[in-house]
Amino acid sequence: MKVDRLIKKRLIIQQNLPKLEQIIIEESTLLTNLQKKKPNKKYPILKTKEELEGALMEVKLWVDSFLKVKEEQIVTIRLGKTSEYDKAKEEIWLAKVQSPRQYGELAHEYTHFLQSELLDPPIAFNDENVFIEGHARGVEKAFNKWYAQNNPKVGLIEVLETSLEELTNSYAYISKKFKITMPKSTSNLIKEYSKLKNHEKAVISCYDLGNAFFSLAEKKHGKSIYARIMKKDFTCLKI
Ligand SMILES: [Zn+2]
Repeated sequence: MKVDRLIKKRLIIQQNLPKLEQIIIEESTLLTNLQKKKPNKKYPILKTKEELEGALMEVKLWVDSFLKVKEEQIVTIRLGKTSEYDKAKEEIWLAKVQSPRQYGELAHEYTHFLQSELLDPPIAFNDENVFIEGHARGVEKAFNKWYAQNNPKVGLIEVLETSLEELTNSYAYISKKFKITMPKSTSNLIKEYSKLKNHEKAVISCYDLGNAFFSLAEKKHGKSIYARIMKKDFTCLKI
């Protein structure tokens, strides 16, 4: 758990709160604007083997180029109960539920495949969960922003809702830990997006912390962090 410990040490400090607040405001403004535009609710649904494989190829092209990797191997994809990457079997499982997040989830799980192929070691895929999930969520958000330019924007709306829940969970967790009183405007955002009840005692997830950390790192070093990490350049893990 070396990298996760380092990430938590760098993330859970009082000084990150104003920066995190800024990111929450930006994502919430983007989400509100997207919701205002009455998005077209129709989205592609992946059901058959052909549809799944076609979508995977489309997603792979974008993610490989975003992460600057040349991955020749085509990973197996199946529909399952939840979306996940099975490292032992080298298979991507995509949740059967028809949701506008299918494409974004595919980008997320395909990123896990690349992480496990190209980063392990030094990043132990089944242990360093804050790192693994934060990196994959960052790629997923970037993918959804790109995809929404030419496709229905509903997938982007849903990933932003999830992201804001994770970011506000982390914000509330850090401020409670250091007993910081939040500005009224921020506490309204926390009420709107965070689903955790008692932030002091709440069990904060690797998704919450990972997204908060990578959002701060992206703000500081730019979107190239995701590709730099695939080259095992971890200097961008300073936030
Ligand atoms: Zn994941």
